[in-house]
Amino acid sequence: MKTGIENKIAVVTGGSHGIGRAIAIALAKEGAHVIINYHRDDKGAQNAIDEITAQGRRSKAIKADVSNYSAVTNMMKDIKNEFGSIDILVNNAGITRDNLLMRMKVEEWQEVINTNLSGVFNCSKAVVIGMMRQKSGKIVNISSISGVTGVPGQINYSSSKGGIISFTKALAKELAPLGINVNAVAPGFIETKMIDGIPVQNKKMALDLIPFKRFGKPEEVASLVVFLVSEASSYITGQVINIDGGLVT
Ligand code: NDP
Repeated sequence: MKTGIENKIAVVTGGSHGIGRAIAIALAKEGAHVIINYHRDDKGAQNAIDEITAQGRRSKAIKADVSNYSAVTNMMKDIKNEFGSIDILVNNAGITRDNLLMRMKVEEWQEVINTNLSGVFNCSKAVVIGMMRQKSGKIVNISSISGVTGVPGQINYSSSKGGIISFTKALAKELAPLGINVNAVAPGFIETKMIDGIPVQNKKMALDLIPFKRFGKPEEVASLVVFLVSEASSYITGQVINIDGGLVT
């Protein structure tokens, strides 16, 4: 597959570990220069950029909370000043704060919506004008099957990820006339820190429901993202692609 992303400038939020790290490294392997954003894990971020620069690409890690509008604006400004443009944005940063609605604290609701959904707004808003000027660009938003189906105990998370799906469809329509693709991927259970906290019994139940009888790997999500930012997917926009071992059909 010809990706056409060599020497493109890519920004991946939440790139210090897990799916974001795998995406950042996969993009670098295809020749992109990759800036990763992260929130707390300095060591993980350093490790990710070491791996990217080892491939001969330029890289940088920027610590910024995606839910903070001015922090994101400053981060994107700094990237444009140093790297010249932003061609690819992967909105990957995300958190869970699971609880049944009856027990959910307002802070748990707000933190998840602010990080997962407002974070996507903040980062996308900060890059679209540059993409509109250059009449090209690729945005991929990491949603979740939780946002496709709704999951009990995840009212905040499902709402944020469902919001990302609607955001993706609306923004795709706004930006298609300018040659910019906007798509979302909706992973199922992927082996990262995020699912470490799920009780063993619940993991067993989930595995029973997954036709492939295994959880996904971050690298498998990364391959899909590479496709969505490549020339091979030039006529795809406004789509949500599930990557879940067949769980949701
Ligand atoms: P991880 O918890 O492993 O990684 C999350 C990443 O997001 C980290 O790099 C973290 O940075 C970053 N992050 C969290 N909050 C912020 C913030 N406020 N500002 C900037 N960065 C932040 O999660 P995954 O890799 O599993 O998840 C990645 C994405 O995929 C998320 O959006 C998640 O919702 C989604 N997803 C994951 C699934 C799974 O099964 N794992 C399933 C479906 C969707 P740091 O650690 O430095 O603080």
